[in-house]
Amino acid sequence: CCPRVYCGRFAPSPTGLLHFGSLVAAVGSYLDACVHGGRWLVRIEDVDTPRAVPGAGDAILRTLEGFGFVWDGEVWRQSRRSEAYRDALARLQAAGHVYPCGCSRSEIAAVAGRKSIDGGLLYPGTCRAGLAARRTARAWRLRVPDREWRFSDRVQGEVRQNLARDTGDFVVLRADGLFAYQLAVVVDDAAQGVNAVVRGADLIDSVVRQIWLQQCLGLPAPSYAHLPVAVNAAGEKLSKQTRAPEVDVAQGSRLLCEVCAFLGHPPPINLYGAPLADFWRWAISAWSINRVPKRLKMPHHSCVGRD
Ligand code: GLU
Repeated sequence: CCPRVYCGRFAPSPTGLLHFGSLVAAVGSYLDACVHGGRWLVRIEDVDTPRAVPGAGDAILRTLEGFGFVWDGEVWRQSRRSEAYRDALARLQAAGHVYPCGCSRSEIAAVAGRKSIDGGLLYPGTCRAGLAARRTARAWRLRVPDREWRFSDRVQGEVRQNLARDTGDFVVLRADGLFAYQLAVVVDDAAQGVNAVVRGADLIDSVVRQIWLQQCLGLPAPSYAHLPVAVNAAGEKLSKQTRAPEVDVAQGSRLLCEVCAFLGHPPPINLYGAPLADFWRWAISAWSINRVPKRLKMPHHSCVGRD
């Protein structure tokens, strides 16, 4: 049979423009696809339509082009994929993997004993055995098994999780009628043939939920590599919420060199400010995911753009 062709992707949420942290995920996923002679896709993850900033998806694409990234095929946008998510939900419903949940946040808060791994409330399973009389479904939740999962992350090594203990039955269709990130990402990665996910370690706690969803839907699991997340002096992830500055394409290879240095690949000094083609030629020849620091978070203080 044919060899497995590497297919990676960069999947930004258009909640603002790219900042250093998102550029780290773009560069890491791109270089890893390039050294494997693979495909690299870009997908705009605007499934959470109220959070999407109008025009941000296009601005992200222009920024990527300005830094010299070249993607394969069409750019997919999750806001146009509702039919595929509805179809996946219908399959989960038919197989009994999901159930309607009528609990409000305050009802969950009143019963939940513990927090879930991502800081939310661990769903206590109130509606698991069926909706109580006179309750209406607000969201749909996926039943999770009570067993320990292990997977091997290409950067972070072995990760263990028990979904029953760490996340509880999680939402795949939200009370506001929007599909949840976990469902959208699993459906899209499979539909696009993505078999190598390289992204920020802030998402490492989602992997087991995604693997379980893949199993419920009969989809193949990609390999995973989680890159360290850039944090500011206060230890907070660089993001729109922490007012991380947007990247400026005028910073060109100086900023890309900083990203590579952050990812354990310090470039020769003459590449800082060099033509983009020279930077990319060097970066593709130098990249090895084994050199990426095995850390979930790392501080980053930019030297670029502060002349
Ligand atoms: N859209 C997500 C984000 O921007 C990334 C999803 C993923 O890479 O799986 O944080």
